[in-house]
Amino acid sequence: MTDLSPRPESIARFLRGMPKAELHIHIEGSLEPELIFRLAQRNGVTLPYADVESLRAAYAFTNLQSFLDIYYAGASVLLTEDDFHDMAWAYFERAKADNIVHAELFFDPQTHTDRGVPFATVIDGLRRAVDRAGRELDIHAELILCFLRHLSEDAALATLEQARPHLNKFIGVGLDSSEVGHPPEKFARVFAEARAIGLRVVAHAGEEGPPAYIWSALDVLGAERIDHGVQATKDPLLIERLVRERIPLTVCPLSNVKLCVFGDLAQHNLAELMDLGLVVTINSDDPAYFGGYINQNFLDTFAALNLRLWHAKQLARNSFEAAFATQERKAAYNARLDAFAAEFDNSAA
Ligand SMILES: [Zn+2]
Repeated sequence: MTDLSPRPESIARFLRGMPKAELHIHIEGSLEPELIFRLAQRNGVTLPYADVESLRAAYAFTNLQSFLDIYYAGASVLLTEDDFHDMAWAYFERAKADNIVHAELFFDPQTHTDRGVPFATVIDGLRRAVDRAGRELDIHAELILCFLRHLSEDAALATLEQARPHLNKFIGVGLDSSEVGHPPEKFARVFAEARAIGLRVVAHAGEEGPPAYIWSALDVLGAERIDHGVQATKDPLLIERLVRERIPLTVCPLSNVKLCVFGDLAQHNLAELMDLGLVVTINSDDPAYFGGYINQNFLDTFAALNLRLWHAKQLARNSFEAAFATQERKAAYNARLDAFAAEFDNSAA
């Protein structure tokens, strides 16, 4: 039965319909050019682009830094609580269409507080959308506060202080932005502080940076999940540890190609990482900028690497295992996946 390989269109139908969790999505990276222009108009912000088309045309990045430059320009239209709500709500509507049942959203408060937007405006707008997604879309979502690693640790510590009155609104901290030259150990104190408060810990590591950054994300920051981590295959000892401790990797295939981490999807090491026994998940990273939301990542990666139905089930299962959720919730997600798979088998028979 498992050796029978369904036709590609059948696998595509499975990928689209299966319940899944998304664990690596920067909410500011879900801002579509249309929404950027709508918010700019609403807030009277002048953009350095004439129209939606010229903004889209500027998305021809060559590396992480050239992407980040446009990313921060796009975020400049976000000023009010409603803006943050509307941005997250637009993502949740897409997430629903892709059958995401659980989402953990990264947000970058420093991108906004450094422009004079209060921390409370950012988190209250996002949280309103998160709560609404639970009520109206049956998507359970959480927020993870990310520190910008190109800024100082003192700036990160100040952000954590601003976040203290809002600890009931987010579940963890992460580390994002320009990786190379900004190793995890630069943020040892702020992550120790976050752990002491009881926050969950993730970190971007091994996207463009070396395996050493993954080691220090684990050992110095106490990361429970590694965002990206695709450079781990350069270090067999590290792979051994990630497998042994079941430390998940939140992999973002379309992002990796857009930022030239891999030449094309056919060269991506996702299948290799799965074969090695790692808890790999597929995610969209910054979907408005990188050419697709989570289902597009699944569809394109499966086509390029000729992956099978068991990969799809495993990736969905991994996404639930890697989620920050109670065992009861995870069991319920897996039951939904099993029910979907059984119904799929029946309809295919
Ligand atoms: Zn990311």
